Amino acid sequence: MTFLITCPNCGPREALEFSYGGEITRRAGPGSSSAELTGYLFFRENANGWQTEWWLHRDGCRMWFLAERHTFTNEIRRTYPPGSEPPVDAQAPEGAA
Ligand SMILES: [Zn+2]
Repeated sequence: MTFLITCPNCGPREALEFSYGGEITRRAGPGSSSAELTGYLFFRENANGWQTEWWLHRDGCRMWFLAERHTFTNEIRRTYPPGSEPPVDAQAPEGAA
């Protein structure tokens, strides 16, 4: 089964042109505990619902961007370049400038 993903640079394309980069995570900052670092490296939400993810337009412009995708239906709510509209969980760790 395939679906359409809208590349912010190229427009709608078949999902076969893209590579999945994983769900967005919050990077463990300096001074993080080993539990926080382990969580960042090995654990994911794996949500059954809406999730913000990294995608690469591998067979197109090769741009990395963020997509809000429903993990059950594969519906894409929106796509945007990183930094243009950071979701809450993509913000810099506390204490980072
Ligand atoms: Zn593209």
